[in-house]
Amino acid sequence: MSRKGVLTIISGFSGAGKGTLVKELVKEHDYSLSISATTRKPREGEVHGREYFFLTREEFECMIEGGQLIEWTEYVGNYYGTPRAYVEEQLEQGKDVILEIEIEGALHVRNLFPDSLLLFITPPDADELRKRLISRGTETMDVINKRLKRASEEADFMKDYDFIIVNDCLKDCVDCIHQVITNEHYKTTNQ
Ligand code: 5GP
Repeated sequence: MSRKGVLTIISGFSGAGKGTLVKELVKEHDYSLSISATTRKPREGEVHGREYFFLTREEFECMIEGGQLIEWTEYVGNYYGTPRAYVEEQLEQGKDVILEIEIEGALHVRNLFPDSLLLFITPPDADELRKRLISRGTETMDVINKRLKRASEEADFMKDYDFIIVNDCLKDCVDCIHQVITNEHYKTTNQ
């Protein structure tokens, strides 16, 4: 029987530190990270094809029409979506794949891949979230407020996740996620 990899979906409030966490996770361990497409403008230091595929709205809509995205959504005024080919290829090859996407997309992927693992990352408290978003310095106050509003709406869906992980120490958080994925991998391969 051919063994498929584990598909892990990591979500969390904007400013919860998911980006740093996921970068560290794939640096430390052998996971395949899916690079999303987005119409958001690159932040300073972000590179096309590394953090995201930065596309125009027209290019993104072409991908939607061509069925090239597993899921997509509009988040605070921009499109975000998961390219299909990479995820399907990697899973077929037995690799464990990580998606870092918001809740709507996560629940959609779970419907398509019922065995996927859903992890939700939170900062230690709500004040910390606001502080992290402001100190990041990459968004205007208007966008920060929209992201905080979205976070309070998203809180209702945390219950749909398999694990909620508090990000108060990067290393502990990376170790915890790695442990959870390793357990899932073991279960999948020994079914
Ligand atoms: P940011 O603009 O801060 O990089 O991302 C904003 C939100 O979009 C984050 O919650 C991130 O997880 C989510 N996101 C990134 N890529 C995707 C994707 O491909 N699909 C969906 N549904 N959400 C995504």
